[in-house]
Amino acid sequence: MNTPTVLIVEDESAVREMIRFALQQQDLNVQEATESITAEQMIARTPPDLILLDWMLPGKSGIEFARQLKSRPETADIPIIMLTARGEENDKVQGLESGADDYITKPFSTRELIARIRATLRRAASTDHVEEIEIQGLSLNLATHRVMAQKRVVDLGPTEFRLLHFFMTHTERVYSRAQLLDQVWGTNIYVGERTVDVHIRRLRKALEPGGHDSLLQTVRGSGYRFSTES
Ligand code: CA
Repeated sequence: MNTPTVLIVEDESAVREMIRFALQQQDLNVQEATESITAEQMIARTPPDLILLDWMLPGKSGIEFARQLKSRPETADIPIIMLTARGEENDKVQGLESGADDYITKPFSTRELIARIRATLRRAASTDHVEEIEIQGLSLNLATHRVMAQKRVVDLGPTEFRLLHFFMTHTERVYSRAQLLDQVWGTNIYVGERTVDVHIRRLRKALEPGGHDSLLQTVRGSGYRFSTES
């Protein structure tokens, strides 16, 4: 892995310097900004691997800035740790609701800060690489294209895999055969609605040994639903 870059957004120079020193000792690359506008430009130029964001900033507050970053697809995945002098539970909730990934209250030790940074970077790296969905012991891994039921491999054809992926990411809702054709087969391919039934049957058969076939329910007159409620 390349050396991670951490962007510090903090207007108090003493705090900024203390953090910069601690991070450089850990061989982390450091970028610094004193408010959100400069930070935004830096992020656009070189997206950091993590942002340490002070709550109280001149201009836009850290909370508002976090919310903004998390609402844009190009910055939504950059983890944010909020720094603040406030320690009240309500503030903490507000900080995390803004989309911040973690929260640290001033004054903090550099050791604590580094530990939080490492943990957050580790978490971000693991969600980058492993995309796994798990429902009641049935797991689907997008990276390896592997489906497991109670630790046993479920052998699926490519269409059944796509169908199951769609259902596992769109649970508890009924989809008509036409909707499934659109979503799973794509609009440019002509296949009849009966085709859906054929693949649903195959998928159910493959899920049967693990008992997960009951998750894939027929809704009479409407279509199919993937649901953990019977
Ligand atoms: Ca401040």
